[in-house]
Amino acid sequence: MALAPFRTEPTLDFSVAANRAEFTGALARVRSRLGRDYPLVIGGELVETGELIQSYNPAHPEQVIGRHAAARREDVDRAVAAGWSAFPDWSRTPIEERAAVLIRAAEVVRRRRAELSALMVYEVGKPWDEADGEVSEVVDLMEWYARQALELNSRDRMVPWPGELTQFRYLALGVGAVISPWNFPLALATGMITAAVVAGNCVILKPAETSSTTAAWLVDIFTELGLPPGVINLLTGRGEVIGEALVDHPQIRFVAFTGSREVGVRIYERASRVHPGQRWLKRVQLEMGGKNAVVVDETADLDLAARAITASAFGFQGQKCSAGSRAILVESTYDDMVGRVLELAGQLQVGDPSDPEVTVGPVIDGAAEEKILDYLQIGRREGELLLGGDRRPGDGHLIEPTVFGKVAPDARIAQEEIFGPVLAVIKARDFEQGLAIANGTDYGLAGSYFSRDPRRIALAKERFHVGNLYINRRSTGAYMGVHPFGGFNMSGTDTKAGGPDYLLFFVQGQSVAESL
Ligand code: NAD
Repeated sequence: MALAPFRTEPTLDFSVAANRAEFTGALARVRSRLGRDYPLVIGGELVETGELIQSYNPAHPEQVIGRHAAARREDVDRAVAAGWSAFPDWSRTPIEERAAVLIRAAEVVRRRRAELSALMVYEVGKPWDEADGEVSEVVDLMEWYARQALELNSRDRMVPWPGELTQFRYLALGVGAVISPWNFPLALATGMITAAVVAGNCVILKPAETSSTTAAWLVDIFTELGLPPGVINLLTGRGEVIGEALVDHPQIRFVAFTGSREVGVRIYERASRVHPGQRWLKRVQLEMGGKNAVVVDETADLDLAARAITASAFGFQGQKCSAGSRAILVESTYDDMVGRVLELAGQLQVGDPSDPEVTVGPVIDGAAEEKILDYLQIGRREGELLLGGDRRPGDGHLIEPTVFGKVAPDARIAQEEIFGPVLAVIKARDFEQGLAIANGTDYGLAGSYFSRDPRRIALAKERFHVGNLYINRRSTGAYMGVHPFGGFNMSGTDTKAGGPDYLLFFVQGQSVAESL
């Protein structure tokens, strides 16, 4: 199978009237489909469990997005068994055929892009452009991993040996758990599922409770494409019950997780235990949180830096693992930069993201709102409140874009992931101290450095210890296939989604030598 060279999928321009009209239509169509019931999907069968969990619109918590069967422990056993019964045929299906499924899925996503985006506006509160950007990323992931699978299959790097026919090849691992978060509900589930499946594995997807409907629509796409039953199974339900049961299961071969540090570390520990009947050490990838910094020195284009700080801190309400939640400003730029950021952040429109004018929607749920409000109190003690600092009245989980100035590098709001629209501004003596402060957390996911000095830029490339380093651009907005994504230290296992090595997590290399 020959595929055209990979190209990233363009996003929609919502300043174009036709695009706006189409999206408004999609919002109306999707609205009429909200509140439905969704079963589990196990071995191609639709399974009801007698108990439901619901996902809500965070802008209007009384609006139910979907009601999902809550999986029980016995459903975990059934799903794992369904995966293993599909595995022999699926893993032997020619890789070209498996890659072709991803290419066809990408086509479906392109066709349904407006609806999929609209669903995320309702279910997780994404502003239009954020939702549309995520759908483009989904297409990119499918197209990228299809090509990577073909490339992996054609690698032949071994040295010939006299008298032997030697071969080195990659085999699928088996049945794995994919545990995904709500903040990129389509892209992160897609990335982990498609990479696993194209490599010949079968998976059980356990999505976050708050974004279960988006996950159900994604699994539907693969079912409609005729993927064999059992290759992708869907278990909606509570993380601490179903996620944990999956991680512990002796027949689970690998766990691909994206989510919080707290849960990731717990999975790391639990997955290391070898249970009776388990014949392997589970392979685990954990992509976790961040406390990303944007460092600005006195040679930088301050206007560019201020726009990047604002976009990185407040895009999708600061609920991105790559959010730039710390701005580290060299002393001489501090007052000027703070003024620029406050001006830009003050223009952001907070509200219901089904309105195209809204740039900051709600945070995901009541628990997130409470956690962020706690940090706003902590911030008042640790810094100088310069903007925002409160929730907006009403029932939506709306929090004002908030900026704290003069924050100490070791303050809690400068060290802990808040996952909301909260920016801590830190003053540095010079750019070297700025880089040291940037590196001074447990995390190491993304980071930006703004400077016009080539010598300093070279130094930043050496010293800024993050998985995704950006020079003179924002810390968010990685493109798959262009900026392989994954973090250092407590940000995770650095498997680099959308990169050249990602599929290697999902395979094991076999060396075969035949004496001639
Ligand atoms: P979370 O850790 O609360 O949940 C993630 C998933 O784990 C969900 O499906 C949840 O149901 C499940 N889960 C919960 N408890 C579990 C348990 N005990 N055992 C197994 N599974 C369990 O995270 P979240 O709130 O959904 O997502 C936000 C977090 O994800 C943030 O910390 C963010 O930085 C991080 N994130 C990281 C990346 C990355 O690529 N590094 C990308 C997106 C989000």
